[in-house]
Amino acid sequence: MIDYLIVILEHDCAPFCCYDVMNRNRNELISLDLLKKIVNYAIRDRLSVNFLYGGTPLSPEHEKVIAEVEHMKMAPLSHAGSYENTVFIIDGEEDLRHVRVLDGGDLNNVILRVGKDDLGSLGATVKSLIGRFKRLNVIIKDVDRFTEEAFSAYESQLEDVGAIVGEEYRKGNFVEVNVLSDRVFLTNMNNCSAGTRHLTVAPNGRLYVCPAFYYENEDNSLGDLDDRVEIKNARLLELEYAPICRNCDAWHCRRCVWLNDALTSELNTPSHQQCVLAHLEREASRKFLERVGADIGINDRVAPIPKLDYLDPFDIITNRSVSPEDRERHFAQLLSKPLEDLPVTELLRQIYRTDPKMLTRLKEQNCAVVDLEDKE
Ligand code: SF4
Repeated sequence: MIDYLIVILEHDCAPFCCYDVMNRNRNELISLDLLKKIVNYAIRDRLSVNFLYGGTPLSPEHEKVIAEVEHMKMAPLSHAGSYENTVFIIDGEEDLRHVRVLDGGDLNNVILRVGKDDLGSLGATVKSLIGRFKRLNVIIKDVDRFTEEAFSAYESQLEDVGAIVGEEYRKGNFVEVNVLSDRVFLTNMNNCSAGTRHLTVAPNGRLYVCPAFYYENEDNSLGDLDDRVEIKNARLLELEYAPICRNCDAWHCRRCVWLNDALTSELNTPSHQQCVLAHLEREASRKFLERVGADIGINDRVAPIPKLDYLDPFDIITNRSVSPEDRERHFAQLLSKPLEDLPVTELLRQIYRTDPKMLTRLKEQNCAVVDLEDKE
């Protein structure tokens, strides 16, 4: 069920995720009429809106319309100081030289976009940003360019980030850094959900699964606001229909369907790069918890993160030397880890509450019908 819209206010707006803005010189600001139509649509359907800003200052009329709907702003760093309660986006060297503009305001969520070539300084960058964010979302821009060498550079930078954030936690400064702390506190998949929880409206008035699909090709549109939106193969966006992801416990992974489509030509199949990156982060979270869990007293409040012997679940799924039963046991053990300490009766009660039919199915599997004539 869609519960929020992402609205691209101008074509050349700050990218908040792993996609790039194409044809930046073709800038097109959303018209006031279209903005009013989107805001009315959102209010009518009780949707909140994430507005993506570019560098162009908006007219007071535009801002007034934006203020009518429950929303969040995401804006380039150049707007820091002009807007409050905004997620600012740090993207590249130039922005990093100006992070001081974040000082003095409320501590907010900040997005840090990094490319494979900037990875060597990720730890130092995170350190320089401490005190300037409440939550830092590190976004890797060029996942498709990752090689084995880049994976190990990322692994070692995640170690540094773990040490830096660990120090903060010991001081009582519980900042969030998505690639490190999210997995520690999650108990289930928490992915991007493009097309299932949010849709994007572009300045051309058309709807897209997410901004990446718009920038890749405007013809990827799902229709306009007056149409009844139908996503082709919509179920492929759902976890249930993602055979690799539903067996995975890298719960913080963005599970980017645009990257899936671009790198594997399947919306529901992640690339090797995406899986390895998510598992390197998962391992960094595991070590982080090991390092600070006891010191900050959270070990009995969060589920332990089991150590894995793979970085890409696809390696296990396709490993012919592992029997299907062992594979099933392997993943079932992983996914049920946070429930291990629940008493069985409580577990069954929760299953009943979630879906009573599941109990019927479990009974069918486990309580065989007795055939009185069969003496064996
Ligand atoms: S599908 Fe989600 S994670 Fe991927 S580019 Fe779009 S918004 Fe970002």
